[in-house]
Amino acid sequence: PASPAPILEVEGLSKHFGGLKAVDEVSFTVTRGGIHALIGPNGSGKTTTLNVLSGLYRPNAGRVRLDGQDITHAPPHARAGAGLGRTFQNIRLFRSMSALENVEIGAERPDNPLAGHDRAAREARARSALAFVGLEARADEPVSAFSYGHQRLIEIARALAGNPVLLLLDEPAAGLNSTEKGALTGLLRRVAAKGVTILIIDHDMTLVSDVASHITVLNFGRHIADGVAATVLREPAVVEAYLGQ
Ligand code: ADP
Repeated sequence: PASPAPILEVEGLSKHFGGLKAVDEVSFTVTRGGIHALIGPNGSGKTTTLNVLSGLYRPNAGRVRLDGQDITHAPPHARAGAGLGRTFQNIRLFRSMSALENVEIGAERPDNPLAGHDRAAREARARSALAFVGLEARADEPVSAFSYGHQRLIEIARALAGNPVLLLLDEPAAGLNSTEKGALTGLLRRVAAKGVTILIIDHDMTLVSDVASHITVLNFGRHIADGVAATVLREPAVVEAYLGQ
């Protein structure tokens, strides 16, 4: 039988800001299952790539397929409906609303108004996502009462509540202490183990080499290396890109 399509196929993707080629004809594939890292020095185009993948930016060129479906020109809510979840570099939660209310926003399905109206189902999905990150006992507390590390977990719960097949994480370890990073590592492994593929951007090479089975490396908007984690980080082009920082 034919093997299933990769969960994500990125082909010749470009995003320009005026004369700046922030992402320059980048191609890579994320296979189903596991944790895939997108790394590169500051300004190499990682966040811009994620923003194009999640539909915040329109690409100048290229093609994106999610689970075999062309989503290159799909609006963000349609991508979410197709199974794309994401978190942001800066936490985007409503601080005066409860953890549960925030996660319920992620459980809404704008692509499916009927599902969206089923409040009980939405709340159940939100509660189970909060349980998954270990915060169900504090579901009714306002976000402002949680530590920064826990707010990161609430963001991940919000993304999980949408039942993604692919979860895009933009620097989830930023600002976390080493205990929190350890907990995050465990959580990412549990997310992957339940069948949600993860594409993660992070500066923390220890975290990346701990969790990622596959790494794609960008430099100046271009794809410079790709492969299994253990060997990619030793490639001369990658070492050189990071030395140049
Ligand atoms: P990374 O996430 O790897 O640090 P970014 O994708 O944030 O890199 O940025 C890539 C390049 O694009 C940088 O030179 C950055 O200054 C530029 N850039 C990013 N977003 C914008 C924008 N909205 N407008 C103009 N330039 C941008």
